Amino acid sequence: MSASPSPFASAAIPESFVRVESKLDGITVYAPAPRADQADNARNFKCPNCGATTAFDPRAGSVTCSNCGSVYALNTRQVGRNANELEFTLDTLNSTPRGWGSTRRDLVCEKCGATTSVAPTELATTCPFCGSNHVAARTAVPDAFRPRYLIPFKIERAQCVTLAREWLERGWMYPRDLVRAAYGAQFTGIYLSFWTFRARVSGRWRAEVGTERSEQYFDMGSKTFKRRQVIDWRWREGDVVVPFENQLATATTRIAPRLLRRLEPYDLEELVTYDPGYLAGWRAQSYEIGLEQAWDAARIEMREKTRGAAFAQIESPHVRNFSLNALFDDEAWRLLLLPVFIAAYQFQDKTYQLVINGQTGKVAGDKPVAWLKVWAFVAALVVPGLALAGIGLLLARSGSGWLFVVGGLIFIVGAAIAVVLVQRAMQAGEA
Ligand SMILES: [Zn+2]
Ligand SMILES: [Zn+2]
Repeated sequence: MSASPSPFASAAIPESFVRVESKLDGITVYAPAPRADQADNARNFKCPNCGATTAFDPRAGSVTCSNCGSVYALNTRQVGRNANELEFTLDTLNSTPRGWGSTRRDLVCEKCGATTSVAPTELATTCPFCGSNHVAARTAVPDAFRPRYLIPFKIERAQCVTLAREWLERGWMYPRDLVRAAYGAQFTGIYLSFWTFRARVSGRWRAEVGTERSEQYFDMGSKTFKRRQVIDWRWREGDVVVPFENQLATATTRIAPRLLRRLEPYDLEELVTYDPGYLAGWRAQSYEIGLEQAWDAARIEMREKTRGAAFAQIESPHVRNFSLNALFDDEAWRLLLLPVFIAAYQFQDKTYQLVINGQTGKVAGDKPVAWLKVWAFVAALVVPGLALAGIGLLLARSGSGWLFVVGGLIFIVGAAIAVVLVQRAMQAGEA
């Protein structure tokens, strides 16, 4: 039998307690030791000076207290686009920290299902993605990877209305009173998750490449020698190496990728290491598209670009039986947060989504198209040519055939412009 523990040990302080500072002489005070993960989550961004809630201020570039005006520097550094990238291995995946690193709440939207992370003190009641106020709050479960880098907000919420108004005013094919919609829009600043990938793609391609040659042949019909173009096909092979840096892949499913793409570029020189302080007073969304799914999508895109690079090596426009064997190496991934303002604006009982790049102020979104204006413009483009050709046809007997030809040409040009116009209007109105 092993020696029984000393009586002191049984009455001793449990291991999970540590000695803390005592205000009384001769009395030792022990308190429960902060658990590593709790200490990590304990940051709640209360102002140490007055106890009010602080928030990250884009203008100051640091956490400030709106109550007493105190400014608190964040413990991060600017790393730029050369930020260390995590290697794409299981090892680093398992050791990557999870959660936001501060106390936050999750808002789950009962209408669209989106989960948004908010500061615990924020009395948020609306979903930034669909505008619904049927949201349920719950304690955040820190199971997602913690982002390693982010670009802080540089644009303030107050600037959003001006940016939106300028954007709504742009172009002529929209309703004239659309600008008013900017004043009704509620802008929510939110950090969205993005994956970026680095890889070097080495491709070996093989294809039949055709070269044109003109040859003489005897035409039986006209019993004369004529020339014709023929294509000689030969197998060719080549190597192509394409390096990819910062291949950006969206990790949210709540905003159309075409809108997010229009917000690019982000200046990755301004990347800083993640600090939960940047999220103080702001919303954030953890990634909805996981690493593997995003990597698969990024690989497809990189493969397509490598294919394009291989085609660029082939000077001939005649290519058939093309195949590409692509090898990926030097792969790395990062999880970033990028700043975005989201607003849903109403126009004639319809809702449209508007997004603003929180770093550059670039705006993207959907606009209702004033189709009456568009069709009037199309008519103005097409009718003169048609009318001229019509008159030309009527007067054809009196030798005005040229009028028909000129009218026809004007019609073709007008119609071509009209087609482009209608296509553009359809893209702009895509909801
Ligand atoms: Zn304060
Ligand atoms: Zn929603």
